[in-house]
Amino acid sequence: MYGYSREEALGQVPARLLQTRYPGSKTSAYAMVMRNGAWEGRLVQTRKDGAVLVVEGKWALDSASGRILQVNREVTDQVATSERFRHLVENVQDYAIFLLDTRGRISSWNEGARRIKGYEEHEILGTHFSAFYPQEDIEAGKPERELRMAREAGRVEDEGWRVRKDGTRFFALVVITALYDASGKLTGYAKVTRDITARQLERQRLLDLERSKSAFLNLVAHELRSPLTVLRGYLSMFRDASPERRRELEERSLPALEAKTIEMSRLVDQMVEVARLEEGSLRLRADRVDLSTVADEAVALARALEEPPVHHIAFEPFPGELNVVGDPERVQMILSNMLSNAIKYSPSGTKVTVILDRTRELGRVAINDQGVGIPMSDQVRLFSRFMRVDRPDSDHVPGTGMGLYLSRELARRMGGDLVLQWSGSGGSSFALLMPLAEK
Ligand code: ADP
Repeated sequence: MYGYSREEALGQVPARLLQTRYPGSKTSAYAMVMRNGAWEGRLVQTRKDGAVLVVEGKWALDSASGRILQVNREVTDQVATSERFRHLVENVQDYAIFLLDTRGRISSWNEGARRIKGYEEHEILGTHFSAFYPQEDIEAGKPERELRMAREAGRVEDEGWRVRKDGTRFFALVVITALYDASGKLTGYAKVTRDITARQLERQRLLDLERSKSAFLNLVAHELRSPLTVLRGYLSMFRDASPERRRELEERSLPALEAKTIEMSRLVDQMVEVARLEEGSLRLRADRVDLSTVADEAVALARALEEPPVHHIAFEPFPGELNVVGDPERVQMILSNMLSNAIKYSPSGTKVTVILDRTRELGRVAINDQGVGIPMSDQVRLFSRFMRVDRPDSDHVPGTGMGLYLSRELARRMGGDLVLQWSGSGGSSFALLMPLAEK
């Protein structure tokens, strides 16, 4: 083991020959064995060829002869491996890896734990690991329960919110493993924690999206059902009516039938557009469009659709043409949606005004109403998908929250924009801005 022959070694003082160092101990093994009669421990020694080796020594003093019997076993490889392993654990950055004693107090700490939880080693050693749990979990006895489960099943896995030193929370994936010695006695626990906040937030986002999608589908179904009910009502009236009565009915019902059919196809068109938008398959034309003409058509349609008419829609045409670049059908869709909102969210008898003008680069259609207005707190989210203003007083107003989102997206993709110019108790003003066509 040491490389010395018997002749070389005999008569030498072992500590000098082997350049023995005593790691972790200020008292030499020699002094200990003389005082206590026995010594056990680890020594660092040097071979004849100069290589350093680690040995585990068991020494005993034979007091009768005054001789010391040394049994030294080399453990260099094991020590190196466990040292390397310790080094590895200490330096892992993405996982907090630490040990707990049998009562749950922290007895080791690594770099990952420092990074994830924010405590330095000297601040946390000896503290109970429940320090990482939110107050409500502590009150519910969760830390103790996890240790018990680890003891009973060998290991326990958990996902949940944990608390950093600075009080902020992170979402953790935690594994606690119970540790036993060779005789089967519990020596403590190993705990590995990973910060999966980003993953959890993404999961939550998808879940919310899923929820808002089903809520949206419900709304759409509801919105389609009401015009359908009207159509079916008229149909059954037609079926049961005499030929003369039919003629009379025809005259009375046609405007409403038309209005309800258009309402339904608008809704379906909007859904198709939103789907295209989200799939990325939306294709927009870039034609020369006269805003004046399109606005005029939209106003005529809105007037025709209001059955019976209860709002006054005033249209102030632009003197001459107001040519912009865009997709005529989509511009029409946006204006119709703006008009329909102005009417939906305004009391009967009020006025809706459509005004056209231009700046150096943009054509603008402003639609002003004298309606309920939009609370300041909702104005920022107004253009988000499926966003509807909560209005206890006008819950009955049909809608899906798709209109403004879709309209703004379409406007922006055509190089323009849809903005809320002002809103208050006296009403609201939305404006569609479109890039002017070259002369
Ligand atoms: P909806 O289908 O609900 O009308 P929109 O996306 O068109 O969806 O509008 C979103 C929300 O903005 C509506 O629920 C409504 O509360 C509010 N809103 C839109 N236009 C007006 C307006 N002219 N006056 C008051 N509130 C409006």
